[in-house]
Amino acid sequence: MVKKLYIKTYGCQMNFADAERLKYIFEKNGWQITDNIDEALAIFAIGCSVRQHAENKIFSFIDGLKNIKKQGRVVGLLGCTANIYKKDILNQHPHINIICGTDYFDLLPEKIESALKGEKIILVEENQNPFVIKTNSKNSIYVDIPITKGCDNFCSYCVVPYARGKLKSRNSVEIINEIKNLSDSGVRHVNLLGQNVNEYGKDLNIKYDFAELLKEISKIDKLLRISFMTSHPKDTTKKILETMAENEKIMKHLHLPVQSGSNRILKLMNRKYSREEYLKIIEYARALIPDISITSDIMVGFPEETEKDFLETYEFVKEIQYDKIYIFKYSKRPFTRAAKLPNSISEKEKQRRHSLILNLQKKISRKISENYINKNVQILVEKINKNGYLEGKSLNNKTVYFSGDKNKIRSIIDVKIEQYSSGSYYAKL
Ligand code: SF4
Repeated sequence: MVKKLYIKTYGCQMNFADAERLKYIFEKNGWQITDNIDEALAIFAIGCSVRQHAENKIFSFIDGLKNIKKQGRVVGLLGCTANIYKKDILNQHPHINIICGTDYFDLLPEKIESALKGEKIILVEENQNPFVIKTNSKNSIYVDIPITKGCDNFCSYCVVPYARGKLKSRNSVEIINEIKNLSDSGVRHVNLLGQNVNEYGKDLNIKYDFAELLKEISKIDKLLRISFMTSHPKDTTKKILETMAENEKIMKHLHLPVQSGSNRILKLMNRKYSREEYLKIIEYARALIPDISITSDIMVGFPEETEKDFLETYEFVKEIQYDKIYIFKYSKRPFTRAAKLPNSISEKEKQRRHSLILNLQKKISRKISENYINKNVQILVEKINKNGYLEGKSLNNKTVYFSGDKNKIRSIIDVKIEQYSSGSYYAKL
């Protein structure tokens, strides 16, 4: 009988990319991935520990699986949460059979056999060769490609350096070969992923940086689009922005988390840039690429964030006019420097600040979106949605729907935006 694996993923795009690679590894080893938890022999949760709320959700899912052991099935906790708490997790959740950090996914098909016999498997140390190479894409058009892992920046609120270890850049030849193989199997858009892709290559001690990598990838013939995430403002160089502007395959979208508009808070966060320096990057990007879409992350309620600090962030969001922002309420994370700071903001106050910025951004996003009506844009057609519309992304990362010929999937076509509704654009050929 075919062994089946159920995977539950929480958290960021990096975790979802890890899940895709985990599926690939297990399928290569004869397992089937199932959406039906009841028929799975193994159940894995890929955990996120960036915020307390995310962590609570994982452990509540894991605790719902307490009787599974009696049925001869195994439960695994994988990813960042496994790396942070290691075998201590077993004190409160003894029914977990496998605790595995992100660097060891390729060992799991072999180790799971021992777990099925009752052994506890713990794989959490850092590994020197953590990247899983994916050679086929099951007809996908879009694939996430991890190019770095880990982070040495130690922003004071962030647990990632403790969960994913030091910055590790993947060998560029390996990245290029993987993308070439994927483009031969039909992939047309790759999204380069890392905690801070702009630092690509820093740890390799070679004169090859992120902009060089972008140029090299863009030479792959069948590939039509390249995007990337996430960029750290302190490492967003003119060279990267100029490469984006010059190269027609690189998407004109920059996700540049600012976190706060207050220099005092930015310093406490250890972000290593000021609001003035951040603004200069945005101005340069917009001068080079007028149609660029800029998105950001904002954190409210950081310890010691006064009303004045908050209002500076509020005004900054108004000044920048982001296409979209993701707003987070600060939550205390283990090991981090911010966890030791006094004067935490109450949950009620965090919620008030969150709502104020959210309402402001809704108005800004609506205004920006309405400006797209009647614009001509080029779409990479990705699929037909359930309502029969073709669906694709514009060069600046807007999702657009329109009626057309399904043979156009995998091609770039011109459309005119006609309507904007609930976060989606509708267009005609
Ligand atoms: S750059 Fe800062 S926020 Fe981003 S992963 Fe690294 S430490 Fe965390």
